[in-house]
Amino acid sequence: MSAPAAGAEPPILIAGAGVAGLTLALMLGRAGRPVTVIEKRTRVEEIGAGIQLSPNASRVLLSLGLGQALARAAGEPERLVVRRGIGAGRLTEMKLGRTMRDRFGAPYYVVHRGDLQTILLDAVRSLPQVRLVFGRGVVSADTEGDEAVVSVDAGAGPETHRGSALVGADGLWSRVAHAIGDHSEAEFSGYVAWRGLVPVDKAPPAFHKQETGLWLGPNAHVVHYPLRGGKLVNVVAVISDSNSEPGWSRPGDPALFQRRFRGWSPELKALFEAVGEWQVWSLFDRAPRERWVSGRVGLIGDAAHPLLPFLAQGGACAIEDAAILSARIAATPDDLPAALRAFETIRRPRAAALQNAGRANGRIYHMPEPLALARDFVMRRMGGEGLMNRYAWLYEWTPTA
Ligand SMILES: Cc1cc2nc3c(=O)[nH]c(=O)nc-3n(C[C@H](O)[C@H](O)[C@H](O)COP(=O)(O)OP(=O)(O)OC[C@H]3O[C@@H](n4cnc5c(N)ncnc54)[C@H](O)[C@@H]3O)c2cc1C
Repeated sequence: MSAPAAGAEPPILIAGAGVAGLTLALMLGRAGRPVTVIEKRTRVEEIGAGIQLSPNASRVLLSLGLGQALARAAGEPERLVVRRGIGAGRLTEMKLGRTMRDRFGAPYYVVHRGDLQTILLDAVRSLPQVRLVFGRGVVSADTEGDEAVVSVDAGAGPETHRGSALVGADGLWSRVAHAIGDHSEAEFSGYVAWRGLVPVDKAPPAFHKQETGLWLGPNAHVVHYPLRGGKLVNVVAVISDSNSEPGWSRPGDPALFQRRFRGWSPELKALFEAVGEWQVWSLFDRAPRERWVSGRVGLIGDAAHPLLPFLAQGGACAIEDAAILSARIAATPDDLPAALRAFETIRRPRAAALQNAGRANGRIYHMPEPLALARDFVMRRMGGEGLMNRYAWLYEWTPTA
């Protein structure tokens, strides 16, 4: 059992040390609030894959003083090039790099997930008021008077933690959601993601550039970008696959994958051949939760609103959530239920807009022929500037709660 010493301010409990939980812990800890982060894994390490951090997210991380660490670990591709997967025609090109910084005042980073976790974790570890409790999975949570009470599975037996509030940053399969009365299940989205890394010296020369590539085709799309100073190429292919067996991460069969992309650009297929090991993720989605908050318990990040990866915004949205929730807690430090309610009111429209835009992109990216010809026409006409204008609402976001 873990309880604060008599007279000590009780901690805010955070379930989950993903990008949402760690960013929130960092913000609250910096503001002087005691925090306990409860994470079910024994070590927080992300398996090999990258994450794009658009200016709306990088702006928040820079404001936390993580600029130097990110500048060392992350890259800034010079452009995004959108192509047809079959026929390989170039559809449009949007400038990133300096152009993003000039227009949105913050970088468009790409970073290895493991490096991002390490940066956040190191920053959190430097704060004495943040306690990290690893290897403890939240089993149930409740409210008793003005306390949030969490039962965790501690291996050797159950353990209880008490705090002034509980924030569920425990991802898509949130257990904390049960404590707000939501027992709904996430559903298989009909999309499967294949993720892999290629050492750059094994990748075809076309993929050695500081460039993000997006390839669109019938029922699939592919994204790639350089990681770790261009030493690695991160490859993600998302396939519409309604017959796929829903499951979590598993190794993928390269032969099956190559068959699925028969007829696609030979250049891209050469990149696929260089992937050492594919990890396959069935992507799950859920209808909007009826509520994210009940009393002293609230949800942020994927726990509140998972995002399909067609906008590359799930992690960014989780970082935005952390910024708004910590600002609301600072605004009403003695009334955490009010802070949580205000957070939900502010964030719901933005999260819904991102979810809807992501789902729409899924349909556009995976359009079959001949509909895709109309899509390609629109994309070519829109051009890079038009594409950037289309997403400006996303990248301009600043934490002004
Ligand atoms: C293929 C793919 C590509 C993506 N690309 C991008 C991208 O480029 N940019 C972007 O912004 N987003 C991207 N996303 C989305 C992004 O990865 C997620 O939205 C983001 O990781 C959500 O962060 P989170 O902290 O809310 O949840 P998670 O990262 O899921 O973290 C939840 C944490 O809670 C822990 N946990 C779970 N249950 C319990 C429990 N009972 N008790 C205690 N701890 C628990 C977990 O172990 C984990 O550490 C992508 C997603 C996919 C699938």
